[in-house]
Amino acid sequence: MENKRICVFCSSSDALKKSFYDVANELGKIMGSKKYTLVHGGGQIGLMGAIGKSVKENGGKVIGIIPEKLNKKGIVSEYDDEMIVTKDMGARKAKMCELAEAFIALPGGFGTLEEILEVITLKQLKYHTKPIVFLNAENFYEHLFTQFEILYNEKFAKEDYRKLYAIVSTPEEALQYIEEYNYETIQDKWFL
Ligand code: AMP
Repeated sequence: MENKRICVFCSSSDALKKSFYDVANELGKIMGSKKYTLVHGGGQIGLMGAIGKSVKENGGKVIGIIPEKLNKKGIVSEYDDEMIVTKDMGARKAKMCELAEAFIALPGGFGTLEEILEVITLKQLKYHTKPIVFLNAENFYEHLFTQFEILYNEKFAKEDYRKLYAIVSTPEEALQYIEEYNYETIQDKWFL
């Protein structure tokens, strides 16, 4: 299990209430103590910076993946073990997906939503079979999940696609899901 590479998508904001940084720190602490590798956006700001520092301080490794445009002092992390600079955001996401063995979304904004929804979309289309977890701290994603229910009820998505991701509320549960994960085959998308 050592060196398991987990990609965490999360907020780049430095203006959140403390409890959100606490969750990022806690997840980083457990990942670090298990000697896991964090794959993240490479920023030193927001929850991204918090989890990066926490993984490192607790004995894990950190790989940052940042597009050229954001590779600037003050934004890019100075303490990641490895920093991969990509041409653009698309190449960055592709690299994150390639390196990671699992994905976790902590609370985040548009960037985080875009990233986690992309890995769900790719799994739905069977481009990968990796575990995906929403760490729904403080029920942050409550309204997103209500929207997901609308997708299922109105047949924009198959009920079977609930299997594409897990929803948990603590870092321990997120890592347990990933460690015990077995891919379950899903039904084909409508047009396949
Ligand atoms: P957001 O949730 O909108 O704050 O965006 C955070 C997500 O988008 C992270 O998972 C990053 O991969 C990426 N991202 C957004 N802003 C930055 C930034 N300034 N530096 C590095 N990555 C960023």
